[in-house]
Amino acid sequence: AAAEETHAFQAETRRLLDIVTNSLYTDKEVFVRELVSNASDALEKCRHDFMAKGEDPGELAVAIKVDSDKGTFVIEDNGLGMSKDDLASNLGTIARSGSKAFVDEIAGDAKDDKTAATSTAAANIIGKFGVGFYSAFMVSDKVDVYSCAGDGSAHRWSSAGDGSYTIAPCEVGDGDGQAPARGTRIVLHVKEQDKTLAAAEWAVESVLKKYSAFVGFPVTLNGKRTNSIDALWTKSAGEVSDEDAAAFYRFVGGAIDTPAFRLHFSADAPLTIRSLLFAPSDNPERGFAGRQLEGDQSGLSLYSRRVLIQQNARGLFPQFMRWVRGVVDCEDVPLNISRESLQDSDLIRRLGDIITKRMLKFLGERAKKEPEKYVKWYGKMGVFLKEGICGDQSYMYKDALTPLLRFETSSEAVKSEGDDKPRHAQISLDQYVERMPEGQKDIYYLVAPGGRKQAEISPYLEHLKRKGHEVLYLYAHVDEFVMQHIRSHNGKKLVSVEMAEFDEDSKDAKKDDDTTDDGESLGGEAMEKLCQWFAEEALPGRVTGVKASSRLVGSPALLTGHEPEAMRRYRMMLSMMSD
Ligand code: ADP
Ligand code: MG
Repeated sequence: AAAEETHAFQAETRRLLDIVTNSLYTDKEVFVRELVSNASDALEKCRHDFMAKGEDPGELAVAIKVDSDKGTFVIEDNGLGMSKDDLASNLGTIARSGSKAFVDEIAGDAKDDKTAATSTAAANIIGKFGVGFYSAFMVSDKVDVYSCAGDGSAHRWSSAGDGSYTIAPCEVGDGDGQAPARGTRIVLHVKEQDKTLAAAEWAVESVLKKYSAFVGFPVTLNGKRTNSIDALWTKSAGEVSDEDAAAFYRFVGGAIDTPAFRLHFSADAPLTIRSLLFAPSDNPERGFAGRQLEGDQSGLSLYSRRVLIQQNARGLFPQFMRWVRGVVDCEDVPLNISRESLQDSDLIRRLGDIITKRMLKFLGERAKKEPEKYVKWYGKMGVFLKEGICGDQSYMYKDALTPLLRFETSSEAVKSEGDDKPRHAQISLDQYVERMPEGQKDIYYLVAPGGRKQAEISPYLEHLKRKGHEVLYLYAHVDEFVMQHIRSHNGKKLVSVEMAEFDEDSKDAKKDDDTTDDGESLGGEAMEKLCQWFAEEALPGRVTGVKASSRLVGSPALLTGHEPEAMRRYRMMLSMMSD
């Protein structure tokens, strides 16, 4: 056609297409999920726009038709369509940050070495996370996109997934080569070898059941409905099976794991809320994830009376809660709220605050009811809780977060039923305080980034062990800051064993002669001389004083009252970074 224009793909897009089409590929079927999810997004946008204007969008749906004789897979939606410019920018460039990250990752891995092994790895990643629209090229020789935008203009975008695509005006109608009156029709010309997968009804049906059971619009395949459009978040916990909940979590959270915990939370005051929230079992920021959040995005989809307001709602959650996945439906959020005002709306912040507090309370409940499972979860996700204690909003959530922390301690390992070897229990600060012996005033902790072995040989422990005082073992540098932010718990100060001072330190050592084990301790005068020698000759200017003490058992000397090791390292790191 005369009005047809040819454009080159953006370089990154070309690279992505190259990987997608040339991978030795096992999970090609995910293209269905990607195209359905795009159709669903377009429908959500359409519903939102209509309802914000107080108008009725009519019936919104996704229709898929496959024809194994012709070898086509056609998906159509009556959502918000694309103009010529939209087609060029949405399908010609990689807009999605996840896809960008993907390309970078693969580029880093693959370099120029295009071995089979590398492309298999790439393929597995695509299978898990999806690369959006371009996944259509995994099974297609050619892809045609017919779309009618809000202004009534209709265009065909077409590409064979090589270096370029074409755009041309087209007619509106139901036939081949025409765009729907509203929305988008995508036609895949399926590769010969993929026909049994992408152009066969039974195969596509099973993929839809697997990935798209929770799409909030009717999805039909050759005229037959394939999904129920239950809004799981409006139901109570008992009405939702674990399998459905897990599938829903993967659907809304773009996740691949099974959630560790789920919370159905609803309220009618001060805000009307229906929500379904999940705690992932794996840290969503570890490893490669296609859907990394940016800035103030949350892992929650915000709805108002089942109308999607915003995916990954911005400004809703404090940063440290970004691992939570799920849906929050709040009737008090007006539909016509703009993206910008949404972000710094007081209402949204209040909503986020209510949900944050409820979620933290819920974790505390889980910790009591399923302590082992909780500790395991904490091992992976505890970093976020610590971040909350040290972060910007620490003053708001510190008290809710502190009881959720778990620590190993100096107590002996115990073998409980079902264990094959003794284990060191992880306890909360509450538990620590409960079992403090009489006479112990403070909560003691020791930061040992080298792990338990390093902690156990610390000379700072000798004295406390002898007194029967338990010591918390912390294994990350950041823990020092966590402790400094918490400061005290249940009226007990948190004290680093490196800083702790004891009565024994100031007692005159010679009066305590009987506590030394070799009987050859120095007399008062000799001891004074030795201390003087340390202070003036051996360590001049490096210590503020040297005292005899009866505190140590096996070690000859130790430093006290100094800045803790972790603190020192951290400051060193900061000064190195600022250089
Ligand atoms: P993502 O969905 O993460 O944005 P995709 O690669 O899946 O990335 O899609 C790219 C873009 O193309 C979408 O953001 C959207 O703007 C547009 N798009 C794709 N499919 C449709 C559709 N069926 N209707 C309207 N727009 C679409
Ligand atoms: Mg998409």
